[in-house]
Amino acid sequence: MLKPTEKIWHNGRMINWDDAKIHVLSHVVSYGSSVFEGIRCYETTGGPAIFRLHEHVRRMRDSAKIYRMDTFKFTQAELAQAMLDTVSVNNLRSCYLRPIALRGYGEMGVNGSKNPVDVYIACWEWGKYLGEEAINSGVDVCISSWTRIAPNTLPALAKAGANYMNSQLIKMEAVANGYAEGIALDDSGHVSEGSGENIFVIRDGKIITPPIGASVLPGITRDTILALARDMDIPIVEQIIPRELLYIADEVFFCGTAVEVTPVRSVDRIPVGNGSRGPMTEKIQTEFFGLVSGKIADRHGWLSPVPVHEPAHA
Ligand code: PMP
Repeated sequence: MLKPTEKIWHNGRMINWDDAKIHVLSHVVSYGSSVFEGIRCYETTGGPAIFRLHEHVRRMRDSAKIYRMDTFKFTQAELAQAMLDTVSVNNLRSCYLRPIALRGYGEMGVNGSKNPVDVYIACWEWGKYLGEEAINSGVDVCISSWTRIAPNTLPALAKAGANYMNSQLIKMEAVANGYAEGIALDDSGHVSEGSGENIFVIRDGKIITPPIGASVLPGITRDTILALARDMDIPIVEQIIPRELLYIADEVFFCGTAVEVTPVRSVDRIPVGNGSRGPMTEKIQTEFFGLVSGKIADRHGWLSPVPVHEPAHA
C-alpha cells in the first residue's frame, strides 16, 4: 500500500498530498493523455541521491513532445530542481519518484491540445518491485499472449499512461497464470520487453538485448546496463531476439527502475540455464547496486545529491 508523504509538487509549488486531486472530466481520465516517469532516489554513502535524474527528465520531455503537449512549459533544469526539492521537502532518504504531466480539465473531446498540461511530482518510500527474494533467486515468467504496442499504434519511445493498458493486460494475465511477469513479443513476433522492464539475454559470454525499434521503451536502466557492460568489456549485441533464444539462453534478466536488475530463472516453465541466477547477472548486479549505493565511485556522474535538511535542534 502506498505510504503517503507530506508534499507533492504541482506546477511549480508544493501542495499537500491529499490536495493532489483532479476532476473526473479531466482529459486524461477519458483519453489516457499523460506522460510520466519512474525514478529512484537511493540512500548512498554520501546521502540521498537521485539516479540518472537528467536522463529521466529528458525522456519525460521527449514523451511530452511526441504527444504535442505544447503547453508543457517546464525546462529540463526546472524539472530536475523540482524533483530534488520534492524529495528534500519530504525528508526522504530513499524513495521512488513519479512525475506526471497530464492533460487536465477544460475542453471535452479527443483533441486535448487546448487543455492545460498539469505537472505533478510525487515521491514515496518503495521497496523491491518483484519482492526482495527476486533479486537473488530470480523470477518465473511467461511469454504473453498479448503483443506489445506495435509501431504506428502507440509510440513505444514515449512513456505514456495509455501504453500501460497494454502492460496491464500482460501483467494481469501473467499473474493470473501463476507467473511473476510476462514478456511481450513485438508485432513481428520477436522479443520486446516485460510489462514494465527491459530484457537482457546472455549466451556464450555476450549480452544481448532487443534494439530500440523492437517496441521497447528506451529504458534508462537498459542504458545503464549497456554502459556497465562496456566498462567491464562484456561484448554487447543489440539484435532482434527470437522467442526461443530465451529458452536456450545461459542467463536472462530484467532491468528497470522498479525491478533494478532481476534475474529470470524460467520462461514458460523452461529453466533458464540451470534455473537460478547466473554468474554474469550477479556480476552486473554487484556493479549496479555498488554504483547506486555509492559504494562504487560514480564514474559516470549518474547520482544527483538531494539537499538534506538537518532537523532543528530543540
Ligand atoms: N519498459 C517498460 C514498459 C517500462 O515501463 C519500464 C519502466 N519505466 C522500462 C522498460 C524500464 O525503463 P527504466 O529503466 O527507464 O525504468
